Amino acid sequence: MQQVRGVEGILSLLTDRIDGEVMDAAGPQLKVISNYAVGYDNIDIAAARERGIAVGNTPGVLTEATADLAFALLMAAARRLAEGAAYIRAGKWKTWEPTTLLGADITGATLGIIGLGRIGKAVAKRAAGFEMRVLAHSPSATAADAASVGATLVSLDELLSQSDFVSLHVPLNDKTRHLINRDTLRKMKPTAILINTARGPVVDQNALYEALTQGTIAAAALDVTDPEPLPADHPLLDLPNVLVVPHIGSATVKTRERMAIMAADNLIAGVQGRPLPHAVTSG
Ligand code: NAP
Repeated sequence: MQQVRGVEGILSLLTDRIDGEVMDAAGPQLKVISNYAVGYDNIDIAAARERGIAVGNTPGVLTEATADLAFALLMAAARRLAEGAAYIRAGKWKTWEPTTLLGADITGATLGIIGLGRIGKAVAKRAAGFEMRVLAHSPSATAADAASVGATLVSLDELLSQSDFVSLHVPLNDKTRHLINRDTLRKMKPTAILINTARGPVVDQNALYEALTQGTIAAAALDVTDPEPLPADHPLLDLPNVLVVPHIGSATVKTRERMAIMAADNLIAGVQGRPLPHAVTSG
């Protein structure tokens, strides 16, 4: 609040909550908020609109990196990579035997994608290489849109009940907060694996903990949590069937460079009073 006083532009990270109070603390000369992320749930868009402040984000450049991470999490959880690595470090690897660390098949399995936008589609394309059946739920997607990436549109209930893997790619907003909750988790297969690279609060984490300890679903792999950072003593981290990484979806050298350039372009355009090259127009 002190540091924004008098500025014309703010470059924000997803960890910076930029609400009307922050905008007012900056002052009436504030022209632009440039978010160094594609998701903009940390910014009060309505408050910015009311004050005539432009908001920018970084769509597209992080799509492939984030889809790669979603798939890495899917595979790691299915084949229990984190458990395997811990098993060796704990000195438990004494011999080879037929039933050690058995996981789930990926090839031929059914993947459910919730939110068939840029990243959701990129994940669907990766699934094609593993001959997966891909189901998608996304309110405004068309069947042709889904078919272009080998996916079939279904209702949320159908997706939950049929998928071996459920991967979340929705933005966080009032409609998607706790989209995955006790009820929706109960609709999933007991062998299902949940992957979240969207935003932590899309999942009701207490309900997820309960589902993972009671065998409602088999495992979860999370790039995003609620809260972030997730405290090291959080109960989820005690569960062997949970893999958590620290919000690294877009964390590749090239992707972060592209995001930085895009965010800088937005910031400069806004300060100079030009339309932003990548403006947030809804929300
Ligand atoms: P996008 O292209 O806007 O895709 C989001 C999709 O979700 C849209 O197709 C949207 O449909 C759909 N959707 C919205 N509400 C839904 C609902 N209730 N149920 C099902 N689908 C719904 O955005 P993107 O670039 O793929 O990014 C998606 C999100 O991923 C971002 O908002 C961000 O939070 C997250 N993300 C995370 C990381 C990371 O580091 N882990 C990196 C990048 C992005 P409509 O078009 O109908 O609204």
